[in-house]
Amino acid sequence: MDRQLDLAPVGYLVMDQYLSITEINKMMMNLVGIENVPLHIHELLTVSSRIYFQTYFIPTIITHGAVSEMVLKLKNPSGSVPVLMNAKKSKGFFECAFMQMPIRSEYENELLNAKRDAERISQATEEANQKLILLLNEVESKQAELSVLNSRLKKLAVTDVLTNLKNRRYLEEFLPPLMKNGTLSIMLIDIDFFKKINDTFGHYAGDVILQELAHVLESLIDDPGFAIRIGGEEFVVVLPGIGQYVVEVIAEKIRRAVEVTDWSYGQITVSIGVAESTPGMTLSSLLKMADGALYNSKTEGRNRITIAIP
Ligand code: GH3
Ligand code: MG
Ligand code: MG
Repeated sequence: MDRQLDLAPVGYLVMDQYLSITEINKMMMNLVGIENVPLHIHELLTVSSRIYFQTYFIPTIITHGAVSEMVLKLKNPSGSVPVLMNAKKSKGFFECAFMQMPIRSEYENELLNAKRDAERISQATEEANQKLILLLNEVESKQAELSVLNSRLKKLAVTDVLTNLKNRRYLEEFLPPLMKNGTLSIMLIDIDFFKKINDTFGHYAGDVILQELAHVLESLIDDPGFAIRIGGEEFVVVLPGIGQYVVEVIAEKIRRAVEVTDWSYGQITVSIGVAESTPGMTLSSLLKMADGALYNSKTEGRNRITIAIP
């Protein structure tokens, strides 16, 4: 082999069709780190490169007459050395040049490590996102539960537990805006001699009467009117859009219904005070008027209605 080729900065060898080495330059011997000329290309390759070489080299060079940039690993005393091989077919022989490429290999390793790091980070991010989605779902369902509980609590806060009617708080919250909307009448209804029912039949009997009266009131009042248990044995009926003359008829209907109803514990009657809201009136002054009328019904002998005079 000529001296220049022997010392060229690439490994060079020639193989016959059986892949037996017929020529090899010094640089190639140096790359592989051997002193005796090898007989066969397989002696120079690592196991994995040998398999790759066997499956790829012969079919390619037979078909195309050349092989370009085949990445192989040569055996070396320090392990292996990556090379890029170019080969061409010439007069039945294969001429091969091997270029060492440790830098490219390091670069590829770095790329590979960076890719692995990126994959790890991406997986960690994905896991964190999944956890976040679970947490968000949990927060959403807790918020939904909370909103159901809140609306239940709101309803409870304005409901009378004994009769299930609305309570005084509801009246204080919702009547003032209703009063601003126009004509509105209220009735203050108080059971006559209610204490006697408790004394005669017991407190439980009194409770039953309160519940029965709540039902009677509800059955007699049409929307948008409603009944409230304002406290003790006192009820308020609110009638939006109803003026003095109609409210008197409804009040009399209630008084009469109570008088003739078949109650669980004896007979009862109610006294009623009626008042009509006028523009600019406050809730407490409306209640005061109704209370004055109720007081009048009581002192006049009970089981009657009184219309407050504004
Ligand atoms: P009047 O005709 O003057 O209204 O006489 P009254 O006995 O109805 O009035 P009074 O104010 O003397 O008594 C009301 C009674 O109502 C006294 C109290 O024990 C009873 N009461 C108040 N709240 C309840 C309740 O929730 N359940 C029962 N069973 N009784 C109650
Ligand atoms: Mg009372
Ligand atoms: Mg009473």
